Amino acid sequence: MRVGIIGAGISGLALGAALHRGGVDVQLYERHGHIRGTGAGITLAENGLTALDALGIGAAFRHRQWGQTLVRGGIRCPEGEWLSCIPADGLGIDRAELHTLLLKHLPETLVHTSAEAVDVEAQTGTVTFADGKVERFDVVVGADGIRSAVRRSCFYDPGIAYAGYNAWRGVSDGPLYDAVFETWGERARFGAVPLHDGRVYWFAVLSGAEATPGEARLDLLKSTFASWHDPIPDLLRATPDESIQLLPIQELASPLPTYCNGKVVLVGDAAHAMTPNLGQGACQGLEDVAVLSALLLNGTQDIRTYDEYRLRRSQTIARQSRLVGRVIHAGGRKVASIRNWVLGRVPDSVSQRQVQSVTAWQMPAL
Ligand SMILES: Cc1cc2nc3c(=O)[nH]c(=O)nc-3n(C[C@H](O)[C@H](O)[C@H](O)COP(=O)(O)OP(=O)(O)OC[C@H]3O[C@@H](n4cnc5c(N)ncnc54)[C@H](O)[C@@H]3O)c2cc1C
Repeated sequence: MRVGIIGAGISGLALGAALHRGGVDVQLYERHGHIRGTGAGITLAENGLTALDALGIGAAFRHRQWGQTLVRGGIRCPEGEWLSCIPADGLGIDRAELHTLLLKHLPETLVHTSAEAVDVEAQTGTVTFADGKVERFDVVVGADGIRSAVRRSCFYDPGIAYAGYNAWRGVSDGPLYDAVFETWGERARFGAVPLHDGRVYWFAVLSGAEATPGEARLDLLKSTFASWHDPIPDLLRATPDESIQLLPIQELASPLPTYCNGKVVLVGDAAHAMTPNLGQGACQGLEDVAVLSALLLNGTQDIRTYDEYRLRRSQTIARQSRLVGRVIHAGGRKVASIRNWVLGRVPDSVSQRQVQSVTAWQMPAL
C-alpha cells in the first residue's frame, strides 16, 4: 500500500510516523521549505496523549508530562479569585519541540518539503504538485490544515468563518509558575500553561474586528490585561514583543458531511478546523490519525469506516468549543459578572466531569 500525506503539521507528522513504523510505504509532502511548528505553545489533553500512545509514539510526551510539577488548574476572574478548579493533567509543550519529537520518527527521505499539492483526483488517488510533478497513491490523506487544498479538490468546501475574536500567543521566560489557568473577563480572556522546561506559554483572546496578517495590536494587548491578576502583567513583560503573534480565530463555516471520498481521507484541521476554546483542535487531529492508521494497518478495504469513528465525535467537540467561545465572548460587563458569579457556584465536580467528557477518550478496538 502506498500512502501520500499532504501537510506536515501535527496530524500529518503523527500519521506519517505511525504508518512508517507499521511498515507502510508512506510519503509526506509539505508546501513550506522546512517543517516548522509555529504558534508558541500548545496543550495536549489526555485524549491527545492517549492517541499518541495508540500510535506507538507517546513515550517522549508521557516522559515530559510526568516531569511537570503542576499544582493547580482552573478558571479565574480578572481579580484572581479561582472560580473553578480542574485538574491540570495534560501536557504543555512548545510547538517547535512537539514537531521535533514527531519528526524523530520519520526518515528524512520520506519528507518532501517545498512540495505544494494543488490538485487531487479522488477516484484515482492522483496528486498534482505546484511544480507540475504528479504522484499516484492507494490512499491520499489531506492533513493540510484549515485552508486545505485537498478538501477544495475532493469535497464540499464550506469555507472559513471568523469566530469574532483574535488571539495573541507567546512564550514567556518567566516568572516561574506552577498552575494552569484561564481567566475570564468581559469579552476577553487570558490563559497560561507552564511548559515542562520552566517557561510559560500564554494566550490572550479579545473580541473585535478580524485581525489582518502582520498586525500585532500590542498596545491593545497590554492595556487590556495590565490590571489583571498576577502573573499576567509579568508574563507579558517577560515576553519579547517581536515574538508575540496575533491571529484571528477561525473555523470551518459548517461541518462536512463526510471525511472520505474515493481514495482520499481528511484528518485534523482539514476535516474539522475548530475554535481553540476547548484546546482540542490538535487532540482531535491526533484521535483522527490514531483511528486512520489502525484502519490502514489492519488492511481495511473500505476507508469509509473512518467516518463512523470520527465524524460525530470531532464535530460534537467543534460545536461545544464554539459554544464555550460564545459564553466567554458574548455580552458586556454585566453579563460577564453574572457568568463568573454562576461559574463560581458550580461544584468543581461538575466542571471536572464536563472536561472529562471531552478528554477521556479510548482508542476503539478496530
Ligand atoms: C490560538 C490557538 C490555540 C490552540 N491551542 C490548542 C491547544 O492547546 N490544544 C490543541 O489540541 N489544539 C490547539 N489549537 C488547534 C491546533 O493548533 C490545530 O488544530 C492543529 O495545529 C492542526 O494541525 P494540523 O496538522 O491538522 O494542521 P496544520 O497545523 O494547519 O498543518 C497543516 C500543514 O499542511 C501544510 N500545507 C497546507 N497546504 C498544503 C498543500 N497544499 N500542500 C502541502 N502542504 C500543505 C501547512 O504548511 C502545514 O504545515 C489551537 C489553535 C489556535 C489557533
